[in-house]
Amino acid sequence: MSSHDGSTPSNDSSTAQSSQPSISMSSGSRGRTDLAWGQCREALELSVGYKKTKLVCLYCAKVFAGGGINRFKQHLARANGEVEQCHKYSPDVLHQMLLNLKGNAAKKKELEKCK
Ligand SMILES: [Zn+2]
Repeated sequence: MSSHDGSTPSNDSSTAQSSQPSISMSSGSRGRTDLAWGQCREALELSVGYKKTKLVCLYCAKVFAGGGINRFKQHLARANGEVEQCHKYSPDVLHQMLLNLKGNAAKKKELEKCK
């Protein structure tokens, strides 16, 4: 008599939203808002005929002839590498420095947390 119609409409639409806004981190910004600029001073080298900026550590007076602010940051952050580490640097400033260096990564993690 009655034809058994066992068709259960499954409307399980699992929309995978994997479209995250790509955060472009411009690490090579020319702005001098970096914390590291407050820990050194620039010294012009004029002896070789052309202007060349050197960075001098305000703590241990170490001179960085090349590498720029990035090398100086490694000096302060005591990163492993060829850069000589600063030995007159106060831990408090070092802490801020590390926070500054890790800033981008930490922000990214926080964004993933509050989904
Ligand atoms: Zn130093």
